[in-house]
Amino acid sequence: MSLKNFFNTYKTVFYLVVLFFVFFEILAAVGVALNKKKDVSDYLAIETKDTQIHTKMAIIQMSNIAKIFFDKGVNTPQTKEIMYAASHSKDTKELARLRDRLYVLLQENYSYFQHYGVRQLHFHLPKAISFLRFHKPDRYGDSLWNARESIRYVNENLVPISCYEEGRIFNGFRNVFPLFYKNEFVGTVEISYSFLALQRTLLSIDSSSYLFLVSKKVADEKLFKSEHSHYTQSEFRDFLYDKATLQDVMELRLAKIYALNKKIAPEVQDRLQKGESFAVYFFDEDIYNEREIVVTFLAVKNLDAKTVAYIVHYKFDTFLELLLGKTRALFGVLTFVILLISFMLMAYLFYIKKKQKSIEDQATHDALTKIYNRYGINRVLSNKIYEYKRYQETFSIIFFDIDYFKNVNDTYGHDIGDFVLQNIAKIVSNNIRESDIFGRWGGEEFIVILPKTPLNEAVRVANKLRKSIESEHFGIEQKITCSFGVTEIKEEDTTSTLLKRADEYLYMAKESGRNRVVSDEGVNNKLN
Ligand code: GH3
Ligand code: MG
Ligand code: MG
Repeated sequence: MSLKNFFNTYKTVFYLVVLFFVFFEILAAVGVALNKKKDVSDYLAIETKDTQIHTKMAIIQMSNIAKIFFDKGVNTPQTKEIMYAASHSKDTKELARLRDRLYVLLQENYSYFQHYGVRQLHFHLPKAISFLRFHKPDRYGDSLWNARESIRYVNENLVPISCYEEGRIFNGFRNVFPLFYKNEFVGTVEISYSFLALQRTLLSIDSSSYLFLVSKKVADEKLFKSEHSHYTQSEFRDFLYDKATLQDVMELRLAKIYALNKKIAPEVQDRLQKGESFAVYFFDEDIYNEREIVVTFLAVKNLDAKTVAYIVHYKFDTFLELLLGKTRALFGVLTFVILLISFMLMAYLFYIKKKQKSIEDQATHDALTKIYNRYGINRVLSNKIYEYKRYQETFSIIFFDIDYFKNVNDTYGHDIGDFVLQNIAKIVSNNIRESDIFGRWGGEEFIVILPKTPLNEAVRVANKLRKSIESEHFGIEQKITCSFGVTEIKEEDTTSTLLKRADEYLYMAKESGRNRVVSDEGVNNKLN
């Protein structure tokens, strides 16, 4: 069977199996994709939580340092006495003297705690009037009542508070404590540390990278004009980088972080604006050499629970790489299994189809010559007559019989007779078109159905067959010839009238001397 024939016979099986494969492959792809999406989003949620915990630990540690500084270094009788005096004085000179005293008193401790990340030590008189900034001693007297909720809060509630807040000079994680002199409220003190200090603590926990983003709007509202230079526009529309924190980016190089931020900005911009904490992951070929990077954005809230800054955490994520690798492997395995089942299904369907075809072949084909038998020919013929009636598609038939065949059997034996029959089937098969249908009507009688063929053409074919058989040498002395009856379908024909007519012509061919063709046109003798 040629490849084309093979395909034609089994094409339904092919299509069915391909359809089966495509359907289940799509199902697997969708399933794996959904599963991956869920796994990744679960993982990113865990990652966000993890970073939150790390950061909280670092913040608590820093707050404890501030608290120790306050308890042991700041909240002393001398300090409180100075603040008491200052809170009751209106005299600038007196206040300056008190300020100097306080500065000298705590300068050493302040320097010491700076090593632990403390940046600001800032005293305020009641009503949040700045009294002494250790980080900027010549700037005082301004009211922080409207700029600093934390200080206002402590003035109103007389209890300490810890929170993040943008200031007039620096941002900071603030710890504000009330000061009492003999039960009288004499002011507040703020001990705060910068994100830089927090960043260093975080880096001592793990060596990935952290950045700090400050809300542009909040910075614009709060900062002294002169202090804007601490910040620079980030790749994220509404946020600024804290310049001081750009130096300690460790594992990932800063230029690369900028490139990465630029890339992820469009995706995260809206979520940043909403102020939520979240993580995203990136597979990056250009910037990070094909590694999975998880970027976590932790919302930093102020006293009013509004997000005013972000801690950004960058990390190469081996676990995520593993997870995604597993997803790919799962899809690979599923594809393999589906492919295997498809092949098995195909083999099974081939087997069924082949069996079906062989049963059909047995019923419609002749065992000796392998061409159609009478039953097969009858089926084809009824079909052709139906088509003729329906589409007026003409066809002709050639009916032929071996001359003196009984003699072959009698002289050379039945086996030689069979051999002749098989060879005639072969010669005829080789001399007709692929679209022609050839069968054994019975004994040594054969029939060829020639679709879309008018009589004159069929007669020509019959003569060609006649000559081919006549010129063939069968290895016996007796010359083998055949007589032919050829007819074209007519309007009123049925199977039996058509065959009868052909048979009559065949009879006439025998009568008029054999080895010739008789058709609707009359005798078409062997000389033709
Ligand atoms: P005619 O030219 O008039 O057709 O003479 P004929 O001898 O061919 O005529 P007839 O119909 O009397 O002979 C047909 C013979 O074909 C009879 C039978 O022995 C032989 N025959 C039929 N089927 C087979 C077969 O399957 N194998 C063999 N070897 N011979 C067969
Ligand atoms: Mg015969
Ligand atoms: Mg016969």
